[in-house]
Amino acid sequence: MLATSLPSPTTFTLSSLLQTFKKTKTTPVHCSSPPPPPPPPPPSMDPQPKGVAVCGGGVIGVCTAYFLAKKGAAVTLIEKSSVACAASGKSGGFLALDWCDGGPLSSLARASFNLHRSLAEELNGTESYGYRPLTTLSLTITESGKQGQSSRVQNLPSWVDGPARDLRAIGSTETTAQVHPQMFTKTLLSKAVEKYGVEVVIGKVESVGVEEGRVDSVVLEGGRVIESDSVVLALGPWSGKFEMLSSLFRVYGLRAHSIVLEPKEPDAITPHALFLSYYPAQGGKPMDPEVYPRPSGEVYLCGMSSEVEVPEDPEQIVGDPESLEVLKRVASTVSSHLVEGEARLKVEQACFLPCTDDSVPVIGEIPGVKGCYVATGHNCWGILNGPATGAAMAELIVDGQSTIVDLAGFSPARFVGRRRKS
Ligand SMILES: Cc1cc2nc3c(=O)[nH]c(=O)nc-3n(C[C@H](O)[C@H](O)[C@H](O)COP(=O)(O)OP(=O)(O)OC[C@H]3O[C@@H](n4cnc5c(N)ncnc54)[C@H](O)[C@@H]3O)c2cc1C
Repeated sequence: MLATSLPSPTTFTLSSLLQTFKKTKTTPVHCSSPPPPPPPPPPSMDPQPKGVAVCGGGVIGVCTAYFLAKKGAAVTLIEKSSVACAASGKSGGFLALDWCDGGPLSSLARASFNLHRSLAEELNGTESYGYRPLTTLSLTITESGKQGQSSRVQNLPSWVDGPARDLRAIGSTETTAQVHPQMFTKTLLSKAVEKYGVEVVIGKVESVGVEEGRVDSVVLEGGRVIESDSVVLALGPWSGKFEMLSSLFRVYGLRAHSIVLEPKEPDAITPHALFLSYYPAQGGKPMDPEVYPRPSGEVYLCGMSSEVEVPEDPEQIVGDPESLEVLKRVASTVSSHLVEGEARLKVEQACFLPCTDDSVPVIGEIPGVKGCYVATGHNCWGILNGPATGAAMAELIVDGQSTIVDLAGFSPARFVGRRRKS
């Protein structure tokens, strides 16, 4: 029977086993046989990589997500409202190669201008988001000179038929260009989703999960947790509402206004961006509105900024009616093609520039929180500097350092120990 073939339990006392073991060890039977292969290593104890959570769907968050995913990272982009709903969708989209030369933004701006050019080739930017080089002029306009001004300034584009003087070319098609900022941001994100697998989540990031000084997740309103090895906070002017950032440095919002006009004769409008010194009829200091004709035939004007509280909901940002009126007056003074009746007012809006106390963006890892990065404070150059910021951030996170731009001067570590302005 089966049971009788089994050794009696007493055979396997500990001492008998040890004896057997010793015997086997000391008297090997086949000295010539190779030693048995070592046992396979235990399964790695490293957890599966969780990927990168990029918080904020403005131009900075989207550029960061794009370049990270292009480098092979698994990226989730989290936006609380809709992609490019704030300044990144409502700004001018003007780009300049060398206007930041001599300052801390010089290399960032130059790298980014060139990246815009190569992205436009890669993504057919001319068609898909209105990328085009253009000539840029500075001129003085005096509102009260509207009637009676007859002598034309030489070399002024024919559609600029208002009371202009002091014309100067300040940018050429080699050094200045433009994009439609919302279309740029959305095109880049579509590519990032379709080609590189970026996942987009609509939800408000409420906090960043940190375990033993290292990021491990982000927590959304409603409790959803997205596990992540790295987190990028690209919240624009809302960075100031995020305690992890506001405890280290100040980001405040400067509200600026813009209008978009559709002239009846779009073909009359040439690709010339205008930077104005505008003297209003009622006197006072000159204002400095900007005018950007777009390839679509629309004309975008912006200006009139002031520091006001950033509302929680980006969709609730409203402009000051008086400031919007001023922009309409500027338009009709600059060109007879832009007066009421000759052009339809398509959009009037406001949005916030994300500003820091030292006017330098904050790009880098947050001191004391491994894996948590910030990219904000791009002020009036976020569309220009989005691509280089995103590419540098991707290198920093994936490779440990950025080669495209030296990020040392942008590090949030510069605020450690500094007294925060309130
Ligand atoms: C009138 C005007 C004209 C401009 N013209 C130009 C120009 O010609 N050229 C140029 O280079 N720059 C220009 N700028 C500047 C540029 O628009 C900004 O620097 C840039 O858009 C900032 O991008 P951002 O991604 O940092 O912020 P934003 O575009 O503000 O995006 C931040 C995003 O974060 C989201 N968010 C906030 N909090 C949360 C949260 N808790 N969870 C999830 N998501 C959140 C918001 O909904 C928003 O979509 C202009 C700005 C203005 C206002």
